[in-house]
Amino acid sequence: MEHPLNSIRHGYLEVICGCMYSGKTEELIRQLRRCEYARQNYQVFKPVVDDRYSEDEVCSHNQDSISAQVIEDIYDLYRHLRHDTQVVGIDEAQFFSDDILEVVNKLVKNGRRVIIAGLDTDWKGRPFGPMPNLLACADLIHKQYAICMVCGEAATRTQRLVNEDKDILVGSFRVYEARCRRHFDPDLSFLQKPPKNPPPLRPV
Ligand SMILES: [Zn+2]
Repeated sequence: MEHPLNSIRHGYLEVICGCMYSGKTEELIRQLRRCEYARQNYQVFKPVVDDRYSEDEVCSHNQDSISAQVIEDIYDLYRHLRHDTQVVGIDEAQFFSDDILEVVNKLVKNGRRVIIAGLDTDWKGRPFGPMPNLLACADLIHKQYAICMVCGEAATRTQRLVNEDKDILVGSFRVYEARCRRHFDPDLSFLQKPPKNPPPLRPV
């Protein structure tokens, strides 16, 4: 069945969400490549906080990439937006302020298709930044799933593996992994646990 949005000529908001390693950026890149084939003009934006891999590119974990404009504030998007841009992609949207909703709504009202990718929950399992509001206003939602590194089931949570008292820890390898709800441990209790079978004390 054809998706109802395929026949829509005016703007709409699409949100790609999920935990880390769920392929959000891959999906964003896939959608933008399709725009390329359809000869639609697109631009991609991302927040300055994310400096992994490359400054001016949007990179998936499998190293596929597309060039992006790094912006400090979501309102900076207007300064870089070209008048003939039909599709606007925004990656790592969870790091923008709630003002993103106003900006996105305006872009959609002007007839643009907006594709947002972002983490829906943070390392504590809490809704992340403006993502809940964006999801509430989306016309189309893609929820992506990763694989739980403990049991291999579908993962929806981002597990932090190191004890750092910071809300945002950029980076990925050995800092985060994907977990299912059952194996998600937001209190990091695994770091406090003593070893299961401590060696017996030797008599002196
Ligand atoms: Zn699991």
